[in-house]
Amino acid sequence: MQAVTNFIAGEWCPASGADVSPVIDPATNEMLATVPVDGSDAVAEAVSAAAKAYPEWSSVPPGERIQFLFRFKQLLEEDFGEIARVVSRENGKTYAEAAGELRRGIENVEVACGIPTMMQGYNLEDIARGIDETMIRQPLGVVGVITPFNFPVMIPLWFLPYAIACGNTVVIKPSEKVPLSIRRVIEVLQRTGLPKGVVNLVHGGVAAANALVEHPQVRAISFVGSSPVARHVYATAARHGKRVQCQGGAKNHVVVLPDADMETTTKIVGDSAFGCAGQRCLAVSTVVTVGDAHEPFRDAIASSAAALKVGPGLSDGVEMGPVITAESRRRIEGAIGRGTADGAAAVLDGRGIQIDGCSEGNFVGPTVLDRVTPGSYLATTEVFGPVLGLTPVKTLDEAIEVIAGSPFGNASSIFTSSGASARKFRSEVPTGNVGVNIGVAAPMAYFPFSGWKDSFFGVLHGQGRDAVEFYTDKKVVVERWPQEWSRKF
Ligand code: NAD
Repeated sequence: MQAVTNFIAGEWCPASGADVSPVIDPATNEMLATVPVDGSDAVAEAVSAAAKAYPEWSSVPPGERIQFLFRFKQLLEEDFGEIARVVSRENGKTYAEAAGELRRGIENVEVACGIPTMMQGYNLEDIARGIDETMIRQPLGVVGVITPFNFPVMIPLWFLPYAIACGNTVVIKPSEKVPLSIRRVIEVLQRTGLPKGVVNLVHGGVAAANALVEHPQVRAISFVGSSPVARHVYATAARHGKRVQCQGGAKNHVVVLPDADMETTTKIVGDSAFGCAGQRCLAVSTVVTVGDAHEPFRDAIASSAAALKVGPGLSDGVEMGPVITAESRRRIEGAIGRGTADGAAAVLDGRGIQIDGCSEGNFVGPTVLDRVTPGSYLATTEVFGPVLGLTPVKTLDEAIEVIAGSPFGNASSIFTSSGASARKFRSEVPTGNVGVNIGVAAPMAYFPFSGWKDSFFGVLHGQGRDAVEFYTDKKVVVERWPQEWSRKF
């Protein structure tokens, strides 16, 4: 059992604080480490280290800055299996899922290696006679990154590579529930020889996050977490004059039309709903079945979900791990109860599941609730667990209306063999990420991770070109150099 350590100015130092909270293995509730409840003391120190490193780092040419990222990618590949195992242990997801998230994180490192091209500005000669205009991008300064528990390495890597490649320095405050995986990633980054203070890691809870958001030397905040916290961070950072992007919670819908290939659809939707125990911000939470699709889909998903092997993420053959905490398990079981009390039928009920050798673990079995009414608690609340609601409707228009009624707008998908239905859906559905015959509509690293409504607060998203826009300031230079002022050669 270890107390977590911060990484400030290139040194590992104890994360101080009299009050600590446990970091647990969600499969057993065994304590793995402790993390400070507060952690705000260290934020000022970390920001000061980042501010001190900034002038030198921002003047390193982009082509040299990315050499550290090339090395970072290589070293992450070398330690891939070990990092994925730490993710699986502290988060609970299966090893395959942990490996998947690390792969998606590494893709962001690869894309950020293109900064010398991506960061270029533009210019125009003779905007007026003898006058030229040029736009150049410059880094912002110190950037704060605050991340959630569900992707302990991928989400920090949505931001960190772009921020430093653009010439900023960074302070990361990861989720207090999963501090161990990011620590492994920062250890790898340290081995690249990155100058001290360019990336700093501070552990803690709400107080540490708020200290970062309010710190006068922090120029920008990248946040991912639940919608109420995203809204709070967005407003607080804006009030403190910062650039801010906040990705929030979700309630994702999939529409299944009667012409969908039912076997493939069931498999893909099942992976989306129950993968990572439903704790993915792109997990499908409600399937809106249209017309005759309802009964065959309901029966197929109930039987495939019932067959899933649930257990500790690192055990062979396990297809679904536990949820993050005992409190999450209780909350999810409560939401299932609320759904059935509101009239939904439990086709498959995962409450009270027992896993051999893991009687203390935070397990909820796959759950399928039929006839969830639009507008009900279960239809509008993010459950963030392995619970799939089914809502039958008669037409595609009605299905799109159900999705439009959601306060969230993270992602939606349609399953169909009709190009016309797919085209109508992708054009009309009000979500930021859209899938056509795709269960988890996750944008690759070179595209922005979108999100609308209560799922995103801000303008510029994470990843790809948006990341470069977010982490740089545009400077426009207008120049006049008349011939008559110069010596002629
Ligand atoms: P959370 O909102 O509880 O915590 C996220 C981060 O914010 C943590 O680092 C936490 O310490 C900090 N925090 C918590 N309360 C705070 C407060 N009052 N003030 C300042 N900081 C605070 O989220 P979580 O439970 O760790 O993660 C799950 C949530 O994240 C889900 O809602 C999920 O949908 C969302 N999520 C969204 C995306 C996306 O891309 N939109 C991706 C992953 C997760």
